[in-house]
Parts: sequence; structure tokens; C-alpha cells
Amino acid sequence: MSAPPTDELTTRLAIEMQRRVGVRVARGEPLARYTTMRVGGPADLFVEAHNAFELRGLVRFARSRELPLFLLGRGSDLVVSDAGIRGLVVLVRAGGWRIGAAADPPLLVAEAGLAMAKAAAETGRAGLSGLEFGLAIPGTVGGALWANAGAHGHEVAGVLVSASVIGAEGSETVRPAAELGFGYRESRFKHVTGAVPEVIVSATFALEPAPPESIAARLDEIRRWRQGHQPLGLPSAGSVFRNPPEGPSAGELIDRAGLKGRRVGGAVVSEKHANFIINDRAGSAADVRRLAGIVRAEVRRRWGVELRHEVVFAGDWSGWEEAADG
Ligand SMILES: Cc1cc2nc3c(=O)[nH]c(=O)nc-3n(C[C@H](O)[C@H](O)[C@H](O)COP(=O)(O)OP(=O)(O)OC[C@H]3O[C@@H](n4cnc5c(N)ncnc54)[C@H](O)[C@@H]3O)c2cc1C
Repeated sequence: MSAPPTDELTTRLAIEMQRRVGVRVARGEPLARYTTMRVGGPADLFVEAHNAFELRGLVRFARSRELPLFLLGRGSDLVVSDAGIRGLVVLVRAGGWRIGAAADPPLLVAEAGLAMAKAAAETGRAGLSGLEFGLAIPGTVGGALWANAGAHGHEVAGVLVSASVIGAEGSETVRPAAELGFGYRESRFKHVTGAVPEVIVSATFALEPAPPESIAARLDEIRRWRQGHQPLGLPSAGSVFRNPPEGPSAGELIDRAGLKGRRVGGAVVSEKHANFIINDRAGSAADVRRLAGIVRAEVRRRWGVELRHEVVFAGDWSGWEEAADG
């Protein structure tokens, strides 16, 4: 579906979805407010899934109607296009969790919509170590698995036991972590093609007991580091580029190319962390993408390094000139 569907079609689909899955469906919902970069046009159809039951029902519905499906966690790794997202966008709010402290090893079982920061805080409170790095990741468990998110020397792949996943063929199975294709900011979920993605419903993490005071101290350290190094409180999507496999980090390359403060419209390269683009003047998704293209081209010209995007340009970018990506 490339052009927005007709009003009549979306109305019919919305009524049907409401009746079959029992959820409230919005049409043409602007997505900027659901992304940390604060950009993004409308979703044709938009639903919040509050629990795994609703999430499964919505995936089934999308599949049965061949409706393109996009899952949204906290939108903290995304630049959603100004034209928005065609088809159905499901905001994954299913955030149930339980700690199995008596298991060996102790476990956290979390639904995909649980915030990673909450997972870090709750497991820490229970005297379980392993997910402290989650405090640095302003996304959900689902989004963190998708990206194999990591920080402070740890990543999802290091603590994940398994995930319950609705596969491309529509059945839900528990997949061990070893089958999820994890690498640096990589997972199998990034490479699924087709209208309906693989859907992470829940995940199980293995933890280890540790004195709550030492976990609390680690969490404080992470909190302080972030406040000192990242432009928190301003709209961004975290690191725009992945670090190259060797040599200086993406941030260092951008900084040394003199690009801090470079601006396109409302988007600017952060003075605090050169690998962050912030949207400090109500910029558009096109501003952000154009600026990322300038940064990429300049780093190539100055240092001969080809930066790869870490953020995802999601939605309908059909009119976009690829040349502008640098
Ligand atoms: C200030 C800031 C700091 C950051 N720091 C870090 C950091 O230190 N390390 C790091 O790794 N990242 C960092 N990020 C990036 C981001 O927080 C992570 O990539 C996070 O894991 C994204 O989770 P999300 O829920 O926001 O996913 P979204 O951005 O909503 O979605 C990302 C992708 O995941 C898919 N997805 C979401 N939920 C599901 C699901 N249930 N099943 C299948 N697919 C799903 C979406 O469709 C989309 O393709 C930072 C971002 C910001 C804004």
C-alpha cells in the first residue's frame, strides 16, 4: 500500500478491527508525539495494544487483511517520515513483567512493551544484576531486542535467554537467543521482509544475584554518565550512526570534521554529543534526514569512512532522493 487508502476503506477496517479485537482505532493519528525525535506524519490506522492478547489479535487481523503492519515501541530509534506510515501502526504498550527470583538462574519475563529503564530499576530493586545498562535505553523490551540495544559494555544478547515471537507464517514460538541473529546493533528482526514483520511478544532474561547497594551505585553511575554526555531532554533518536568496526567512534569522526552545531531547518548536530541530531526548533523528518546526509558525506570526504545509519528512517519516504542521504 503506497498511497494512503481511501477514507471508506480505512473506516471499514477500523470498524472491523474494533469489533473483532475490541480495541479503539484512530485514523490519521499524527505520529510525532509517539517518537522521541518528535517528527512523523499520520498513521492510516493507529491502535494501542495494552496487553499480549490485544497484540496477538491485531497481528492476526493485519495478516488476514494483508494490511501492512508497523510496531512502535517508544519510537526512540526512529525518524518517521513527514508523510507518515501507511497501513496499521500498533503502539506496543503491553508491559507486564514478573521476576522468577527462585529460578536458577533468576529470570525476568517481560512483555514487549515494558520500558527497559523500568526493567533495570525493578530487577535492581529485587537484587538482580544484568539489566543495569537498560537504564540508558529509552525504549521498550521489543525495540531493544530488535536493535540488540546496548550501552556501557553490555547488550541485550548478553542477557537474553529467549523470546516469544510471532513468525512471518503467523504462529507464536519461543525462540532461543542463539536463533535471533544478534550482532552489534543487529538481529534477525531487522531483516524480515514482507508486509507483516516478526513480532516480539515477550522476552526472558537471565540475571544474577548481587547486593542491591552495588546495583544502585551502578545505576547512579549510568544516570550521571548520560546526563554528562547526552543531550537529554531535547528531542533526538539517540546515536544517528553506528560506530565503524575499527578506529574512532562515529561521534569522534563527526566532531573532528567540525560538524557540531551544523543545522538544517529545525535539526542540528548536538554540541554535547556529535553523533546525536536534535530537533530543537520543531523541525521535520526531512530536516533530520537531510542533515544526516550532509554529516555522512562530510565524514566520507574528510576521513574516507562510510558511516551506516543506526536510526531507522521509517514510513513512507517514497518521494525521497536517495542522493540526499550522502
Ligand atoms: C536519548 C537516547 C539515548 C539512546 N541511547 C541508546 C544506547 O545507549 N544504546 C542503544 O542501543 N540505543 C540507544 N538509543 C536508541 C533506542 O533507545 C534503542 O534502539 C531502543 O532499543 C529502541 O526501542 P523502542 O521501543 O523505542 O523502539 P522503536 O524506536 O519504537 O522501534 C525500533 C524498531 O523496533 C521495532 N519494534 C518495536 N517493538 C517491536 C516488537 N514488539 N516486535 C518487533 N519489532 C518491534 C519497530 O518496528 C522498529 O523497526 C537511544 C535513544 C535515545 C533517544
